[in-house]
Amino acid sequence: MIVRQFVVGFIANNNYLLIDEESKEAALIDCTDYISELGSVLKEYDAKLKYILLTHGHFDHIIGVPKTKREFGAKVYMHKDDKDLVDESDAFMLSVGMQPFEHPEIDKYIEEGEEIYLGKTKIDVIHLPGHTQGGVGYLVDGMMFSGDTVFLESIGRTDLPGGNYEQLVKTIKDKVFTLDGDTILYVGHGTNTTVEHEKKYNEFV
Ligand SMILES: [Zn+2]
Repeated sequence: MIVRQFVVGFIANNNYLLIDEESKEAALIDCTDYISELGSVLKEYDAKLKYILLTHGHFDHIIGVPKTKREFGAKVYMHKDDKDLVDESDAFMLSVGMQPFEHPEIDKYIEEGEEIYLGKTKIDVIHLPGHTQGGVGYLVDGMMFSGDTVFLESIGRTDLPGGNYEQLVKTIKDKVFTLDGDTILYVGHGTNTTVEHEKKYNEFV
């Protein structure tokens, strides 16, 4: 699996492009904004964007979805428990002095246990509620794309819509720290880490 990381937008979100080398099928994990070099990177690998997989429904992970979907025709997946968060995002955006954005068209509302395939490579959906109610991690080949659940020696905010601190800590203990220690955590902002490192050094959990 090829992983390309893009740092996008004014909050420096990490968006990730996964490309299955055998089938040339690709998935973009989170879509902060339209990524101008996405087309050329896909071309470089002769790959086709099959999915846009959202880790959660906060604006800084989804604003680029409509334009990217129109351009590449990918299917957009998000957990069902973040549907209301997105549907009701206009009031939140105005409350923080920002403009409402075009809501993404979601092709499938996913749940825990869902399996998504790029060629023969399976991506498991792990429900990670706490930062938002519909937060998910995408687990593939010893890598977990975990959105804003856990960061390098830190955790996601719980003061934004959908957040719950106790639930987030429980999620990290039960759903992240139970993975193999060498699982790489590809996080939504900042530096990537591993399960083992966070079990040792994360003082929030
Ligand atoms: Zn978030």
